[in-house]
Amino acid sequence: MFHRTETRPVKVGNIQIGGNDQVVIQSMTTTKTHDVKATVEEINRLAEAGCQIVRVAVPDMRAAEAIPLIKKEVNVPLVADIHFDYKLALKAIEGGIDKIRINPGNIGRREKVEAVVKAAKERGIPIRIGVNAGSLEKRILEKYGYPTAEGMVESALYHIGILEELDFHDIVVSLKASDVRLAIEAYKKAAETFRYPLHLGITESGTLFSGTVKSAAGLGALLAMGIGSTIRISLSADPVEEVKVARELLKAFGLAANAATLISCPTCGRIEIDLISIANEIEEYISKIQAPIKVSVLGCAVNGPGEAKEADIGIAGARGEGLLFRHGKIIRKIPEEKMVEELKKEIDKLAEEYRRK
Ligand code: SF4
Repeated sequence: MFHRTETRPVKVGNIQIGGNDQVVIQSMTTTKTHDVKATVEEINRLAEAGCQIVRVAVPDMRAAEAIPLIKKEVNVPLVADIHFDYKLALKAIEGGIDKIRINPGNIGRREKVEAVVKAAKERGIPIRIGVNAGSLEKRILEKYGYPTAEGMVESALYHIGILEELDFHDIVVSLKASDVRLAIEAYKKAAETFRYPLHLGITESGTLFSGTVKSAAGLGALLAMGIGSTIRISLSADPVEEVKVARELLKAFGLAANAATLISCPTCGRIEIDLISIANEIEEYISKIQAPIKVSVLGCAVNGPGEAKEADIGIAGARGEGLLFRHGKIIRKIPEEKMVEELKKEIDKLAEEYRRK
């Protein structure tokens, strides 16, 4: 076992990565960053879904110049994703970015690296080193023959070494691979080797369905070991879906502080209501509720209230109606057509009670 609390705390705007038991949710915009309006819209959609830090691609000067304009319109901390070009990093830092993702070993001449590190240090901005199994340094690939966990950690240590030599320590590291077992091994090895907080991700994991399963398998294993202080689910889908998956995964490990959870039965021959559509509607509804409420939706009353004792509020189907219950006790009967509406009202009441506490 590892303890994410023992990693070095790094501040990204008002959010802390590492040094505690939180796992911060990140995602990345899919818009052209120079399109300020579209990018702001997407960032705000991500934030509303529960994304705590948003990364934007900065492939050119137009994108870097858009950063101060975007910053003015959003409240979440932003990360600039930069490859190689130190001028883009300097521009992003000057524009008020909260973190940069760049590998110092890829920047080039020493004075360029020094300029970026100096600017980041002056503004208190961390740097994320992103090691990717698919783009390891040639000499590391030659040494190991193919991407290995050892090679990935060696690459991370190389980039870390450059920053440490310049007395820079606000570092976050990712070691992404699309091979789940390789990613698990690499992150485990990294957690054994250094104390910088780890940014978890399975890269190029696939579409909404397959990518969710793959990410949950790999990142779930790591989270269960106490590894990872921030997480990004990579999906070939709307990035809001990435945030939803991340939240659900963290909820499964009790790591999402203010999220509501749905308990719903798998249905069987005893079903009395249209449970699947109700469960989907309630799941969508609670995805934006910021309170640790457990809601249950069960197909029948045979085991209903008893099965959902753990839930704060729930319904169980009965012929043509629903039984509304709180903490396992039935409080009233509701006609089937009003069930969803009434349950939503009760959820709102509970969320309000929680906020007032
Ligand atoms: Fe079947 Fe009822 Fe259990 Fe749902 S709650 S699985 S409908 S017995």
